Amino acid sequence: MSSWQTPIEKLKGVGPRRARALATVGVHTFEDLLRYLPRRYLDRTTVLPIRSLRPEQGGITVVGQVRAQGLVEGARGRSRFELLLDDGTGQLVCVWFQGLNWIRKQFRPGQWVAFHGVPQRYGARLQLVHPDYDKLEEDSSGPLRTGTILPLYPGSRALERVGLSSIAIRRLVYTLLQEPLPPLPDPLPGWIRERYSLLPLQQALTLMHTPPDWESLERARRRLKFEELFYLQLLLAWSRGGEHPVSSGPRFAPAGALFNAFYSSLPFPLTEGQKQAIREIYRDVRSGRVMNRLLQGDVGSGKTVVAIAAMLLALDSGYQAALMAPTEILAEQHAAVLREYVEPLGVEVRLLIGGMARGERARVLQEIATGQAQLVVGTHALIQEDVRFHRLGLIVIDEQHRFGVLQRAELRRKGLSPHLLVMTATPIPRSLALVLYGDLDVSVIRELPQGRKPIVTRLVSESHREWVYEFLEGELSRGRQAYVVYPLVEESESLDLENAQEGYRRIQARFPHRRVGLLHGRMPSGEKEHIMRAFKAGELDILVCTTVIEVGVDVPNATVMLIEHAERFGLAQLHQLRGRVGRGPHLSYCFLVAASGRTREAEARLRTLVETTDGFQIAERDLQLRGPGEFFGTRQTGLPELRIANLLTDQDILQEAREAAFALVNIDPRLSAPEHQELACWLRSRYPVSLELARVG
Ligand code: ADP
Ligand code: MG
Repeated sequence: MSSWQTPIEKLKGVGPRRARALATVGVHTFEDLLRYLPRRYLDRTTVLPIRSLRPEQGGITVVGQVRAQGLVEGARGRSRFELLLDDGTGQLVCVWFQGLNWIRKQFRPGQWVAFHGVPQRYGARLQLVHPDYDKLEEDSSGPLRTGTILPLYPGSRALERVGLSSIAIRRLVYTLLQEPLPPLPDPLPGWIRERYSLLPLQQALTLMHTPPDWESLERARRRLKFEELFYLQLLLAWSRGGEHPVSSGPRFAPAGALFNAFYSSLPFPLTEGQKQAIREIYRDVRSGRVMNRLLQGDVGSGKTVVAIAAMLLALDSGYQAALMAPTEILAEQHAAVLREYVEPLGVEVRLLIGGMARGERARVLQEIATGQAQLVVGTHALIQEDVRFHRLGLIVIDEQHRFGVLQRAELRRKGLSPHLLVMTATPIPRSLALVLYGDLDVSVIRELPQGRKPIVTRLVSESHREWVYEFLEGELSRGRQAYVVYPLVEESESLDLENAQEGYRRIQARFPHRRVGLLHGRMPSGEKEHIMRAFKAGELDILVCTTVIEVGVDVPNATVMLIEHAERFGLAQLHQLRGRVGRGPHLSYCFLVAASGRTREAEARLRTLVETTDGFQIAERDLQLRGPGEFFGTRQTGLPELRIANLLTDQDILQEAREAAFALVNIDPRLSAPEHQELACWLRSRYPVSLELARVG
């Protein structure tokens, strides 16, 4: 009998080449293949006849035969690829504008294919633009004739190259299911499976590949979703040390000289939201319990001022405060802003980043250790590396969604329990915040400071760029400044994107009498800072840059944000970029220059941005468009990736999984009981970090 850990190459139908291709999608062993799940299922009830399609009907599937296909020359030499699909009830055109060399080799006349997308009206015809597709059996009577549910597997180029289409993968899985294999170990403890009526793992996985009906499929899915969410919750439970964490924290003194001097020196009245946030923070730091607070506020809502107030409360009580930014350039900018506010009060700001000279770094480390450095700004390295604080009372984290949620555990591992203030411009629906951050309290700044005018946003096609340049020139001649932003070039893709360097030359050529600067991520940090300073001081008119300016930059005199290849950016990112203008008294403008022939998702993102400047609305749209996994960037956070569960739509299962995880952590925090060995073993192999957390908790 073989084992589940048998290399996939040992399976009939898999040779060395296929084994290598399967490895690229994470399938190394028999078990991996069993866990390689269909991404979609078809049967007669889910496929629509082409004749019945209506424009803009969301996410439909059609199945038919390829009748004709070929490249079509479009306007201005831009080709597209078109395919004519026939399902016996009607015909439909599928269109691609990009990746033509790949797509033109994918189909053969007569082939059965399933296409998924949103039908759009184009002239007299209906078409699908850049649809998803699955190639089906070459059976003349049609693939859906058997009354069963047809699983469709995620494909990739590497898989297709070795003949592993969806059908071929399905055959491999059938072969695997014939193998004599021992029962698959189930990480979920029996008592949890019973309490929540969950199928055993092996049965659930088998059903996913060969569902006899939709109801069984749903039961199988529920079991697998539960498992994923259970691991997520277990990790969070550990990172907090159970439902009731030990929570004593430094008790700060009443507001003192620094705080009061800062408060009365502010050049503007605080908004209600800012005042409320400061009151809430004050209550926390005076309580004797440790603060765990999330400060939400849209771009430009003035979170920095709130953070400074909090840090001065720490200083007034004889504690140190630290501010962590996601990148070095942002750390540098934060340091500069902080200095403007606190140096007049006699407080010095220390910056600790990677690019420092060794001697200077040693000096700063020394000052941090002796407590001479009261206010320290840096990146994540501030808590990761061997930085020793004398008396750390508060950590402020800017733009938390890039950091993740595990800092608290990291700090605890170092034996620290400072107050924690996490600032984010990404509004998170309340229910999700609870699940993800649990005991984090939330302060929200809802309004922008008085007198801000909404930023005028326009979507422009590439052919109208000259018009935008003329407009930009008009703003410059009034003494304003402008950003021109390019997406980062991914070298691996042959996509013909201009990078910032080329853009820089083009802008220089178009505006020969203007002072143009270039800023991108690969420049040495000293140079970056120099350019930023020059732009801020008004010594540059136009700043051409990559997304290094995405968050935090503050130049109130800049009124134009021109974003090239806007279709390549995510919604939240576009919103952040737009937030770089409209920070002063002048009316500001954002131009989104986008290629024609963009995908449906890109179009939806750009439209959203044109329609609203409300960050909360934009975040909600973003969550819908991208799904929670990417929205929260769970990959960077070190949280398990959700492959089948959905944080938005599976809230019921999430609640149960949460209950189960906290119950387990309360009974057996170290997973030492025999009935938890399978789980411990699985976690150790998948999420080594989580076990470290278990040791801390
Ligand atoms: P964000 O929330 O995006 O971090 P910032 O803290 O950078 O926003 O603030 C944006 C700009 O608004 C800064 O120039 C800041 O000085 C200014 N600002 C902050 N609070 C107020 C206020 N109450 N009234 C007017 N301007 C303010
Ligand atoms: Mg900010």
